[in-house]
Amino acid sequence: MAVLLPLPLAGAYDYRVPAGCTVCDGQAVRVPLGRRQETGIVWGAGRSGLDPAKIRPLQAVLDHAAPLPEVTRRFVDWVAAYTLSLPGAVLKMVIPVPEALDPPAAQVAWRLSGAEVPGLRQTPARDRVLRTLQTGVPMTTPDLAREAGVSPSVIKGLAEAGLLAEVPFAMDPDLPEPDGDHPGPTLSPVQADAAKELVLALGQGYSATLLEGVTGSGKTEVYFEAIAAALRQGQQVLVLVPEITLTTQWLGRFRRRFGADPAVWHSDLTPARRRRTWRAIADGRARVVVGARSALFLPYQALGLIVVDEEHEVAFKQEEGVIYHARDMAVVRAHLGNIPVVLASATPSLETVANVEAGRYIKVDLPVRHAGATLPTIDLIDIRRFPPEKGDWGQSWLSPPLVTALERTLEAGEQAMLFLNRRGYAPLTLCRTCGHRVQCPQCTAWLVEHRRLGKLQCHHCGHQQPLPKVCPSCGAEDALVACGPGVERVAEEASRRFPQARVELVASDTLAGPQGIAGLLERIERKEVDLLIGTQVLAKGLHFPMLTLVGIVDADLGLSGGDLRAAERTFQVLSQVAGRAGRGERPGRVMVQTFQPDHPVLQAMATGDMRAFREAESEGRRLLRMPPFGRLVAVIVSGETADAVESVARALARQAPQGAGLEVLGPAPAPLALLRGRHRWRLLLKAPREVRVQTVVRQWLGGVACPSAVRIQVDIDPYSF
Ligand code: ADP
Ligand code: ZN
Repeated sequence: MAVLLPLPLAGAYDYRVPAGCTVCDGQAVRVPLGRRQETGIVWGAGRSGLDPAKIRPLQAVLDHAAPLPEVTRRFVDWVAAYTLSLPGAVLKMVIPVPEALDPPAAQVAWRLSGAEVPGLRQTPARDRVLRTLQTGVPMTTPDLAREAGVSPSVIKGLAEAGLLAEVPFAMDPDLPEPDGDHPGPTLSPVQADAAKELVLALGQGYSATLLEGVTGSGKTEVYFEAIAAALRQGQQVLVLVPEITLTTQWLGRFRRRFGADPAVWHSDLTPARRRRTWRAIADGRARVVVGARSALFLPYQALGLIVVDEEHEVAFKQEEGVIYHARDMAVVRAHLGNIPVVLASATPSLETVANVEAGRYIKVDLPVRHAGATLPTIDLIDIRRFPPEKGDWGQSWLSPPLVTALERTLEAGEQAMLFLNRRGYAPLTLCRTCGHRVQCPQCTAWLVEHRRLGKLQCHHCGHQQPLPKVCPSCGAEDALVACGPGVERVAEEASRRFPQARVELVASDTLAGPQGIAGLLERIERKEVDLLIGTQVLAKGLHFPMLTLVGIVDADLGLSGGDLRAAERTFQVLSQVAGRAGRGERPGRVMVQTFQPDHPVLQAMATGDMRAFREAESEGRRLLRMPPFGRLVAVIVSGETADAVESVARALARQAPQGAGLEVLGPAPAPLALLRGRHRWRLLLKAPREVRVQTVVRQWLGGVACPSAVRIQVDIDPYSF
């Protein structure tokens, strides 16, 4: 019998089933590996013809967990073959918590006793324990201590005081169940039609549907109908979202719609919760799962529908370990499971649009905003004609027309938002005396000043250092200047210009997790914030009814650079940000600052003619035979010694595959030629769509010797390059 281990090994290993023991495919087993014992999954019959004396027996069958469903196993093999990854590395994503398969220990768990203990001293730690148990799920001492962030002695103290009661530990406690019959909002006729199409697809085998609708058209409400129908049919539903920490509002809506929380899956769950959620998914008790890309690989028992929300988002691409795009793999998973997948977006990716045009995907449209809300008007401000005026705080980034519009909005008691997709204070620190630019010691990147932290930071590797007082190169004093704006700098200007306004800065590094976001959203809803200034985190699906003005500080950011998707991505981000304006009763306005108002991306925004933009963009890619009209594979060679890396890259280029339509670009230093201290070179393989690039790449790499200090990474369908 073969057993696949969730480890980066070459493949499944053979083991012997001891007499009197039966196992089936997908079953979890304990097997010896060297001198250790590991948990693995039975993966088909073993190889034949091996000497039985040399095959070690399995040690135990872990049969209190359901076997991995066949579709999950086929998915693992498929993803491994497609991404050229080791199957064990993919299995690791299916079983990220092998402990969840261990036999339940006879343990006791704590729940709230319900007793009142007058006079007991309340401490923050005790409070956290009590709040953690308020969910009603009993927990063991170690799990409770970890989840509440306290030491076991705090729990002991509470138990001795009589506030906690002991119950036998249940590995699989009851979960709240979202209810498919819970009443939802009345859909508009357009929404109802769209919902009907999605509902009809349920139980009818595989289909892929693009749900395209302008921001605020009610895409979420529409796919909620499909979720409700799937729940009524007893199926599980997976909703993939680009960033789970930004789903606070979404979760609130889900709760109102279905009367209970979904199971949430992401990398920051505490180990206890991870284990519990994994088991609930594996045995089908978790009916709806919402998660970041990694949730796709969990072993759903009865998955009947997948929704990929904001399908165009970059965050679905995983760039490390197993390199994959969760949207694409979601379609594959739906195909293997013979179930429908819904891709929702206001600005669908060119890949998805091409699939619609080729007839591979169905398209369902929501062309208008809900409840008569109109789309915002969009004005381009040519910065060359309306340069920002300097203030006594120094350089300025807000042009006079934007300043005037902000003044009016604030005077009218409405909310405004300024968007700049750059964290920190300034992207570059320059010495006025010698021209030195402060760089990351480990990456080909400038260090970004974060003035609030008093530090310089690398946005690629996380390197930090204090702000230097003198130029690190020439030693000149008071010569270092901040160049260009980040959100902190725009916030500084806004606070100076509008001293009465309550300004709030929002960036991924200033938000303290989900609580931070929840608090911020409450303050915005209570109108305790007048002017929001932030990065892309503000763009994602949030709904602020009183927000009427959006200012885009630098629309050109992201348009430059050699990236194939630069224009598409910029268009998506800007449209998303613009979509935050005027979602309530008052109409919205978007002002876009740019040096290139004639750029096709900005013209498309101003005219709202997305189709024209998409067609132009598609045409360009078609001519170049770039995705989605051709295939692309990036091969990244990296290592600590520049010479060794370069010589492997050159050897790869010399051995470049030949064949009809195949083309290898490079080798060349990768866009981040130094990253975390590793030198990086890159080659790009271009191929016609019908070529099976995996075979080509495997042969290619197999023919080139690579010392162990050099790593070759393959990225099938690279996202940015
Ligand atoms: P999208 O995802 O397309 O941006 P949403 O689903 O977020 O749109 O809807 C925008 C807002 O309109 C949300 O606050 C939502 O609750 C509300 N909404 C949409 N459709 C309806 C409806 N049929 N009844 C009540 N409210 C709705
Ligand atoms: Zn760095």
